[in-house]
Amino acid sequence: MIVKLSREQANQMIEEALKRHPIEACGGIFGRMEGEIARVERVVPLRNILESEIMFQIDPEEFLRVLLDLEGEGLTHLGFFHSHPGNARPSMLDLKYMRLWPESIWIIVSSVNYEFAAYQITGGNLREVYISIE
Ligand SMILES: [Zn+2]
Repeated sequence: MIVKLSREQANQMIEEALKRHPIEACGGIFGRMEGEIARVERVVPLRNILESEIMFQIDPEEFLRVLLDLEGEGLTHLGFFHSHPGNARPSMLDLKYMRLWPESIWIIVSSVNYEFAAYQITGGNLREVYISIE
């Protein structure tokens, strides 16, 4: 699986991460699946209702509104992004929630060194997703 981002979308996630630092920023990523390529067309920052530096939780009502809007525009929910005030490795808690969203792509961005990483649970296994920024 490859997730394709524009430079602007990558910058948008970094800016959101810096704006919220050290609180974890979070949001949804929406776009189109083209075989093994997830093409991101929209990055939507959402509120971290926990205001936490070690975890995030999205307001389900806010998420649902965005989801319905963007599905109405023909876009697919590809996954989520969130920031870590540390490295871009998934935490134990991330892994727990990722298992509840199989196939979803989780992009993690570090608000310290701007490192990006993306992961996905498929068939019960954690896989790293290749990120292409163009
Ligand atoms: Zn995390």
